[in-house]
Amino acid sequence: MTDLHRPLRSLRQGNWFKLICGASYQHLPAVRTLALAYALAGADCIDVAADPAVIHAAQSALESAMSLQKSAQQRGFLIEGLPWLMVSLNDGEDPHFRKAEFDPACCPPDCTRPCETVCPAQAIVFSRGTDRGLDGESAGVIDDQCYGCGRCVPICPFDRISTRSYVFSPAAVAPLVLSGVDAVEIHTQVGRLADFKRLWQAIEPFLPTLKLIAISCPDGEGFVDYLWALHEVMAPLPCALVWQTDGRPMSGDIGNGATLAAVKLGQKALAAKLPGYIQLAGGTNYYTVSKLKSLGLLSLDKTPNAVARNGASSQARQEEPFRIAGIAYGSYARTLLAPILEQLEQSSQQFPLSTSAEHDFVPFHSSRSEQSFDRQQFQIQLEDSDLLWQAVQTAHTLVSQIKQPMTAFAPSG
Ligand code: SF4
Ligand code: SF4
Repeated sequence: MTDLHRPLRSLRQGNWFKLICGASYQHLPAVRTLALAYALAGADCIDVAADPAVIHAAQSALESAMSLQKSAQQRGFLIEGLPWLMVSLNDGEDPHFRKAEFDPACCPPDCTRPCETVCPAQAIVFSRGTDRGLDGESAGVIDDQCYGCGRCVPICPFDRISTRSYVFSPAAVAPLVLSGVDAVEIHTQVGRLADFKRLWQAIEPFLPTLKLIAISCPDGEGFVDYLWALHEVMAPLPCALVWQTDGRPMSGDIGNGATLAAVKLGQKALAAKLPGYIQLAGGTNYYTVSKLKSLGLLSLDKTPNAVARNGASSQARQEEPFRIAGIAYGSYARTLLAPILEQLEQSSQQFPLSTSAEHDFVPFHSSRSEQSFDRQQFQIQLEDSDLLWQAVQTAHTLVSQIKQPMTAFAPSG
């Protein structure tokens, strides 16, 4: 059965699951498959780069998810209606909104290429040819696949890698919000109130069309006071508000310990008793749910009766956070599906890309971002694919941790 309000209900119940595709991740085949797999597995929100080509790829995935919903439910997956589609914007320099770059012609020939090994997105390649988006003799960073984690920069022994950043201008907001997204996330940092206000003025006229605003902020001196100041700028909001506590940005795939920073910052935000929902990110991985459970920060009883009990005392209680309201997974969620994504990408190469003339605004301009996938071909290809259901099954192992905490497999160690 379709539940149009499921994402909001998940926030209230404390079992909201968000997939972060990446604020600067523009690899269209991966975005569409990630969005489709996690939507079918029961995600509440898909967060993508604010690039029309990426939004288009995610929307085509969600169309497919709708048509595959019944099949997914019959297989025991958790989809109950479509997740909300979110785009991420920034009010200033931010590691989520950058790309690495270097000129491979300037690399010493005897370099062992640690940059290639360390890249979690397989975005650095040296193979020659026309595979993987590289033209002819070129090599280096595949722009669309780089999501700005920065791990390649310090590892280069010859200091050859730099990054370029993108900051959204307020004028860029309108075409993005009008392209049919449900939610907007603003990445900010302590001390940027004036920049935040400028961006907020551009978003404010579109609030009636949005279901949710998320504010993503890493820790910093004066963190709590800054979030309260942001709240003052935004209040009153006609839609839901999520505070995304960005514990250790883009690090969930590097090990169990990465989740500790995310949990710690979540606790700090909870203690501030901010109006809205608290959702973890930045270092979240397979261990996050068990860590939250051990600290008593997740609502363990999510049965409808328990939710009704909690909501019965007053309408206001319904709007308050249920401890931690949810978790967003980025690099860990993508890494989990990486082997399947690679196989799907190989099998999809028989389907040509179509070029769209609509995409005249691209934060990180690249030729592949101007291409969009043919929706019909995409759907036919994936509906017949066993690989798709393998991807959904894998995504389910993560989504079910917070959606079905009593039955999901608990990580060891
Ligand atoms: S290591 Fe990170 S920043 Fe460097 S190319 Fe790969 S994804 Fe981009
Ligand atoms: S580590 Fe630095 S010098 Fe070596 S291949 Fe990579 S970018 Fe070039």
